Amino acid sequence: MDNREKRKVLIIYTGGTIGMVENPNTGALENFGLHRFLEMVPELGRMDYHISLEAFDPPIDSSDMEPIRWKEIAEMIVRNYETYDGFVILHGTDTMAYTASALSFMLENIAKPVIITGSQLPIGQLRTDGKENLLTSVEIAAACDASGRPIVPEVCIYFDSRLMRGNRTTKINTDEFNAFQSYNYPPLATAGIDIRFNARLIRPIPTDKPLRPHLELDDRVMVLSLFPGIRQDFVEAALSAKELRAVVIKTFGAGNAPQKPWLLESFLKLRARGILVVNITQCSEGSVEMHRYETGLQLLNAGVENGHDSTIETCVTKLMVLLGEHRDTEQIRALLHQSIAGEITVP
Ligand code: ASP
Repeated sequence: MDNREKRKVLIIYTGGTIGMVENPNTGALENFGLHRFLEMVPELGRMDYHISLEAFDPPIDSSDMEPIRWKEIAEMIVRNYETYDGFVILHGTDTMAYTASALSFMLENIAKPVIITGSQLPIGQLRTDGKENLLTSVEIAAACDASGRPIVPEVCIYFDSRLMRGNRTTKINTDEFNAFQSYNYPPLATAGIDIRFNARLIRPIPTDKPLRPHLELDDRVMVLSLFPGIRQDFVEAALSAKELRAVVIKTFGAGNAPQKPWLLESFLKLRARGILVVNITQCSEGSVEMHRYETGLQLLNAGVENGHDSTIETCVTKLMVLLGEHRDTEQIRALLHQSIAGEITVP
């Protein structure tokens, strides 16, 4: 195949276990640089694609990921958007689902694959899962139909043989290779001997709509997870933060909360201050339905928004992007109930 005809893939290396080695003094895993990383994966040179690399310098543990670093990743993609057919992001697993969710909102109208992956074992270890994750991600980023159109034009996580929509994915396992799960949306593809794509589940290419990046995020968001016995003074202290613009509450079951007058009063006060309160469930699977029980209905009546079947990662990052983009709270409120990037199932 002529070099010009080869599919072009850009790998963006941000860090994470996939590129770590053990520090002989402390025994802890630490990142190593791009050069050594490439030495460890000579297989990349055998793939029939034109592959280039960009990297965070130095690479980071994904626990240090921040909105400003999402902006850097998004800018790398925007800068290289016309040149490459697809993108692979190597990332630590700890906050991978946040990054995948954030990018899905930051890259509106994305029409090319952005496949995020990493590993549970460093790439230099014999039993590493990193090579399969990386090489298959590159295959998926390059995959196209007979007319050269990408098969997966969206932000995804590929891990342990499954391709999942990025903003539906959560890290669920610290030990095993199947570190991610997409509870409320089926996998977009599974990789065995062949990669089987489920075209019905994949977002269509947005026609006639250019890529519209949203790079300025607003981080004035907080998460409040409810539990039996939660104290009024602690909650009120947290919610009185002056800069607050949105609160995600993690409720019980189908979106229920204790029937404590002070709690409802707190939510009503937030609403009066123009602060959005969004209800998502602590359950891994299923959706919030606030009208199902009295304990949920009271929240609806206090002006709490339904977060539907959002993951925590999606809810937080969607709010950051919407707050960064819009001043008008009513506009944001309306967008919370729309699926912008396939992130919620709208009833
Ligand atoms: N702490 C690592 C990180 O998220 C874990 C991993 O990569 O799996 O960067």
